[in-house]
Amino acid sequence: MKTPVPDYLNHVLSQCNLNDSGALADYIPELANADPNKLALALSTVDGTVYTTGDDDVEFTIQSMSKPFAYALAIQHLGLEKVLQKVGVEPSGEAFNQISLDAKTKLPKNPMINSGAITTHSLIPHDDQISRAEHLRRFLSELAGRELSFDEQVYASELKTAFRNLSIGYMLRTVGVLDEDPVDVVNGYIRQCAIKVTVKDLANITSVLANGGIQAKTGKQLLDRGIVRQVLSVMMTCGMYDAAGDWLSTVGIPAKSGVAGGIIGVLPGQVGIAVFSPKLDEHGNSARGIQIFERLSNDMGLHLMEGTPSAQTIVQRRYSPQQDDSIVIYELVGALQFAEAEMLLRIVQEEPNGNNTIIFDLNNLSLMNDVGRRMLIEGIDRLIEDGHEVVVVDPDYLIEQELTDRGQVMTIYRHLDDFLSKLSGLTKSE
Ligand code: GLN
Repeated sequence: MKTPVPDYLNHVLSQCNLNDSGALADYIPELANADPNKLALALSTVDGTVYTTGDDDVEFTIQSMSKPFAYALAIQHLGLEKVLQKVGVEPSGEAFNQISLDAKTKLPKNPMINSGAITTHSLIPHDDQISRAEHLRRFLSELAGRELSFDEQVYASELKTAFRNLSIGYMLRTVGVLDEDPVDVVNGYIRQCAIKVTVKDLANITSVLANGGIQAKTGKQLLDRGIVRQVLSVMMTCGMYDAAGDWLSTVGIPAKSGVAGGIIGVLPGQVGIAVFSPKLDEHGNSARGIQIFERLSNDMGLHLMEGTPSAQTIVQRRYSPQQDDSIVIYELVGALQFAEAEMLLRIVQEEPNGNNTIIFDLNNLSLMNDVGRRMLIEGIDRLIEDGHEVVVVDPDYLIEQELTDRGQVMTIYRHLDDFLSKLSGLTKSE
C-alpha cells in the first residue's frame, strides 16, 4: 500500500494549473522575469514528514514570508512587551505597502505590512560581524534544515526601485519609531526579503511553527511556544493584508504571502503548507496559491473555526475489580483538555465520600495539556480531602510528581497490574 497523500496533492495541483489569472509583480524589476507557469506545493506534518509536488526544487525569494520570522526573532531578542512598544497587532485593512501609521498610537499597525516589517527588521539583533538580514538567514536556515542564501540579483533590483519603502523608512524615522539611518534599515529589510527558498524549505520551516516551535527531526525547541502563538495570531489577522478577512472566512488558517508568489500556512498541531506560483491577484497574493489553499482547507477540513471537536468521552469505563467499590477504577481515553477535564470532574463528583481507593488509569490517554493536568490534580486534591485514597496509573509520565499542588500524596504506578498484584499479595513479576 502506498499512502494516497502524494496522489491527492498532485491532483490538487493539476486542477489549479488551469487558473491563469493574476499578474507578475513588476515593481521589483527582477520579479517580472519569473516564469509565470511555475507551480509547486509542499505539505509538512508535525513529525517532520514533507510531501512535495510540482516545481518543488525551484528557488524563489521569500519576500514578505520573512516577516513572521523577523518578528519572532525580535520577540526572542527583546521580549514581546518591548516589541509591542514599536509595532502593533491590529489588522490594517490596507495594502501591504501603505505609507501609514495607526492614527492613535502613531506606530505601524502590525508587523506583516511593510511599515511594521521595516520596524521589526530594526529590532533583530545584530553586531559588526553579523547583519540583521544575515542573522535572519541563519535562523531560517536552521528552521529549514539547510543553508539558505541570498538572491543578490533580486536584492539589487529591489534596492534600485525602493522608493516606496524608503518613504516608509523616512516616515518611521520622522516619528521616532526608527532611531537610526532609515536607508540602512530599509536596505537590510530588502536583503531579508531576498533570502531564497523552495516550497520544501518553507514546508520544513512551517512544520516548526505547526509543532509549537519544536523541530521534529532534531527535537530542538527553536522557538518558544508563546512566541509561536504570537506570530501565528498576527499571521491570522494580518498575514494576507487587506484580504485577511476573506482569507479567514474561506481558508481559515494563519498564513503569509510573499510578492514573489509564495504563500505559507500553518494549522497549529497539524500541518504546514507552502505553495508557489508567481502570478498575483490585486492584493499581491499568489492567485493560484489562494486557490490551492482554499481547496486544501475544504478537502482536508483545516479551517481553524471548525476546531477540533471534543470526543465527548473521557471515561472509557468505570469499574470495580472487587465488586464492592472499595477500589474504583476510572479508565480514561483520548485527550484530556479543558472540555474533557470538565466532563471528567463532573462525572467523578458523583462518587460518594468515603475512604475507598479511586484509580485514574491514564494508559489510553493520547494527550494531556496543561489545563487538563491542572484540573485532574485539582480533582485529585478534592478527592483526597473527601477521604479517598487516590492512585494514578501513568505509564507515560504525564504527571510529574506524587505530591499534589496542596502537598497531598497520590500514588503513581506505571502499570495497573503492579497495583493490583500488590493488592492481592502476589509478588510483582518484572
Ligand atoms: N520586498 C517586498 C516589498 O517590500 C516584499 C513585499 C511582499 O512580499 N508583499 O515590497
